[in-house]
Amino acid sequence: MKFYSTNDASHRVDAKEAIFRGLPADNGLYMPERIAPLPDRFFQDLPDMRFADIGLWVSRQLLGDEIPEVDLRRIVDETLSFPAPVVRLDDQKYILELFHGPSLAFKDFGARFMARLMAYYNDDPQKLTILVATSGDTGGAVAAGFYDTPGIEVVILYPSGKVSDLQEKQLTTLGKNIQAIEINGSFDDCQALVKQAFLDADLRKQMRLSSANSINISRLIPQSFYYFEAYKQLGSAGDPVVFTVPSGNFGNITAGLIARQLGLPVHHFVAATNANDVVPRYLERGEYATAPSVPTLSNAMDVGAPSNFARMTNLYGHVTGKEHPGGDTHDSMKKDISGYAFTDRATEDAVREVKAKYGYTIDPHGAVGYLALSAYQREQPNTRGVILETAHPSKFLPDMKRILDDTIEVPERLQRLSNLEKHATEMNPDYATFRQWLLDSDQLQETTPLLNV
Ligand SMILES: *Cc1c(COP(=O)(O)O)cnc(C)c1O
Repeated sequence: MKFYSTNDASHRVDAKEAIFRGLPADNGLYMPERIAPLPDRFFQDLPDMRFADIGLWVSRQLLGDEIPEVDLRRIVDETLSFPAPVVRLDDQKYILELFHGPSLAFKDFGARFMARLMAYYNDDPQKLTILVATSGDTGGAVAAGFYDTPGIEVVILYPSGKVSDLQEKQLTTLGKNIQAIEINGSFDDCQALVKQAFLDADLRKQMRLSSANSINISRLIPQSFYYFEAYKQLGSAGDPVVFTVPSGNFGNITAGLIARQLGLPVHHFVAATNANDVVPRYLERGEYATAPSVPTLSNAMDVGAPSNFARMTNLYGHVTGKEHPGGDTHDSMKKDISGYAFTDRATEDAVREVKAKYGYTIDPHGAVGYLALSAYQREQPNTRGVILETAHPSKFLPDMKRILDDTIEVPERLQRLSNLEKHATEMNPDYATFRQWLLDSDQLQETTPLLNV
């Protein structure tokens, strides 16, 4: 399978290049050149398929036969080491729980798949170093995803005092090939250091660097798996299926749109946002205007310029990415996707409503989804709506306790973290220091095996 840039359909690269580069040089996003419906046989067998079998079919359809089946099967099996169960609230509303992975958020699917694909394609004897700047959530998923991956070192930069205790533990307690740098500065400082390293030609002669950016196509592919898995669990008999996706960068909903192009019978998508409502506004008016992000309760969705919007318009026929995505693109997207935005106040009420009505503890991101589905179903009641529950409520412990005025159950794998010791290197946001640290740690790791023999 070749991948093209949303800014230039004639620019094509193979999967390996798309994954290691992350971004095409023209600043577009990579898309598979063909997203063809899966064969009838797949849909006939779907009701009895294991999650990992679904993953194998879907990834083969999106990656082609570039990777031998035995290797791809192993990559998918290892990625899907935890389930994605559908929980019924009532006949109209269902929850797809995507938080059963190590970092308790759906980003685990993408990070685990990307790590394994990179390890598979990484045939260069020189060690690969992945640099990540994180404001919290992505770092945890990437750290867990790449943990113990041979030949790959991960360096995570995070702003001191600006991530939650729990998030910090997720970044700093793994050890092995995961190293954390605690920057005395802001998230922007972290990002600037990473960017400067990528632009440093001399450094890149000495080290192999790559990123685990959220726009990497390999993170999107496994997110298509669970739309099929949810549909399988619901069964094809019944009202049409609608997926509701709490959205920030709109990668998750893009993966759903891809699943639909692969033939999944999805009736409609509902895009749910907090006050950062660029896409719902676009769907309503046909005008796309990015805005500075505003902080909200559902903070993983605080995005003012959603990075995957270019993929969404591309799927709806907008090719160059350089013009105004109005006209036909807007008309056809509106037929498939409805957008709704909600305040924090409404979100808090929804968390309480879901608890009172169904006895289910939903996190603030899922609650935005619940509100959007409820709004949609007031117009379209005869549908089965699936809300993607993107994170476990215990990730937002102080807010959840306050909203529900109750204790929240913390999964064992999270509790365990609080007893582990933090290992991080403190550093000022100074590029020369960071650069020297990278070179020193590169040296150090390269000589370790020699010391052992
Ligand atoms: C990242 C994230 C989102 C937003 O997903 P996108 O793919 O960026 O739209 C929603 N909820 C949670 C909990 C997240 O971590």
